[in-house]
Amino acid sequence: MLIGVVAIQGAVSEHIDMLKRLEVEAIPVKTKEDINSVDGLILPGGESTTIGRLLHLYNIDTVIKKRAMEGMPIFGTCAGMILLSKHINSYDQPTLGLIDATIVRNAFGRQIDSMEVDLTIKGFDSPFHAIFIRAPVVKEVGEGVEVLSEIPQGIVFIRQGNVLASSFHPELGTDLRIHKYFLDMVKKFLKK
Ligand code: GLN
Repeated sequence: MLIGVVAIQGAVSEHIDMLKRLEVEAIPVKTKEDINSVDGLILPGGESTTIGRLLHLYNIDTVIKKRAMEGMPIFGTCAGMILLSKHINSYDQPTLGLIDATIVRNAFGRQIDSMEVDLTIKGFDSPFHAIFIRAPVVKEVGEGVEVLSEIPQGIVFIRQGNVLASSFHPELGTDLRIHKYFLDMVKKFLKK
């Protein structure tokens, strides 16, 4: 199993370290060939407008979409969640549109740059300590989107088939369960 982390900008090495701790091979990816060689892909946090623009410039947005349509699991964290979603409130920016969700960017306000919350997550038997940094939330989801976690400010963890997205940064903590959840999706995909 080989996992790629889109390495344009943002928290790339943190995801790779997390995957290595789970004894999975992980590489930074930024070309079409790289993206065609992996079994699962992570879109990290960073600045979604910058990452989105460069995905398009390097022409890898189309190959990501194609692989996602073929069933390859993709996991977006924070800016990655924004880029995977179909609609963004009050910003006009291109996205991959792979998950039927409406996003509010920087949903916690300018004053609150970051915060930590113990989240209840569907299917997890104890809370997950989540770190949010200038995070988005999901305000609305379409049919077929499973809500895995929600807090008073909005929905923060969702899945639609092979696409998974979190508002928070699971790669910054020590809890491996979210990455493990994603790897289970990849294992199922490879068995098909
Ligand atoms: N605020 C960033 C954006 O809107 C996301 C921040 C992050 O990925 N930590 O793109």
